[in-house]
Amino acid sequence: MAKADLHIHTRASDGHMSPADVVQQAIKHKLEIIAITDHDTLKGYRKAQEAAAKTEEIRLLPGIEITADFNGRECHLLAYCFDPDHPSIRQLTRDHYQSRLKRARWIIGQLSRKGFDIDIEEVKAEAFGGNIGRPHIAEVLLDKGYVGSFKEAFIRYLSDQKLGPIYNEYYTHHQVIDTIKEAGGAVIIAHPGKLYTNRELQQLVEAGVDGIETIHPSHNYKTQKRIEKFADRHRLLITGGSDFHGGAKKYQKYFGIVTINTKYVYRLLRLTNKRKEMTV
Ligand code: AMP
Ligand code: ZN
Ligand code: FE
Ligand code: FE
Repeated sequence: MAKADLHIHTRASDGHMSPADVVQQAIKHKLEIIAITDHDTLKGYRKAQEAAAKTEEIRLLPGIEITADFNGRECHLLAYCFDPDHPSIRQLTRDHYQSRLKRARWIIGQLSRKGFDIDIEEVKAEAFGGNIGRPHIAEVLLDKGYVGSFKEAFIRYLSDQKLGPIYNEYYTHHQVIDTIKEAGGAVIIAHPGKLYTNRELQQLVEAGVDGIETIHPSHNYKTQKRIEKFADRHRLLITGGSDFHGGAKKYQKYFGIVTINTKYVYRLLRLTNKRKEMTV
C-alpha cells in the first residue's frame, strides 16, 4: 500500500524535530505523501517545503492544524491544500499568533495566583520564535523546578480540567472554515475520538467541514469504524496520520506506522483542485 501521513508536527509549534529532519525521516519510512500540520503556523511547512523541493522521493502538501473556538470550547481543525500565500491565510496565522500570546499571558496569570513566577519572555524563548502553547509553559515550569516532569505540569496545572475554559481570541469554527475555503483548501475535523457528541459532529458538518480524521493514534478500532460510518453517512472525506511531535512525545512511535492509503489523499486533492478552479 502507498502510504501517506497527513498529521505531523515540527518545532515550529510543539514538535521536537526540525522540519528538514521530519522530511528526511518521512522518506526513510517510505511515506509517499505527507503534510506538516503545526498548530496555527505555517513556519514549519515553509521550511519543510524547501527540503521537499530538493527531492522527488516525497510529496509535501500545504497543511496546518488550526485551533478554533467551537461554542466557547477549543477545537482542532486540520486544513490542507490551501494556497499558503493567500492573504486570508496570512491574516489567520498572524491573528492566531497574537491570540496564543494573550492566551499564554492569561495562563501565566492563573499560575501566578498559585505563587509561580513565570515571565512571558521565558515562555517565548521555549518556543524559539514559533507559536506559543501550553507545552512551552510546561517546559518553563519544569526548568524552574515547580514540577518534576513535563507530564506533571499538565496533570497538576495545565490540563483542560485544571485550567477550565482557557481565555482565547481564536477564530470561531465558522471563520476558520470560511478562511480555508476562500484559500482553496479543505477543512477536516481533527482526532474526533472522544471529543464530540453526535450532535456536535453534526454541527461541524452543517458549518461546512469537508472531512473527518478517522485514522489517529488516539482512535481504537471501534472508534475508527464509528467515525468511518459517520463520514460515509455525511459524504465526508477521510484523512489520517500519526500526530507525530518528535522527541519523547506521546505519539512519537507511530510515525511511519499510523498512516493512510494515498487513495484518500487523491480524493482530497480532487476536491481542492476543483475548489481552486472555481475561485480563480
Ligand atoms: P495548546 O496548543 O496550548 O492547547 O497545547 C496543546 C498541546 O499540549 C498538545 O499538542 C499536546 O502536545 C500538549 N498537551 C495537551 N494536553 C496534554 C496533557 N494532558 N498531557 C500532556 N500534554 C498535553
Ligand atoms: Zn500538537
Ligand atoms: Fe490536535
Ligand atoms: Fe496534532
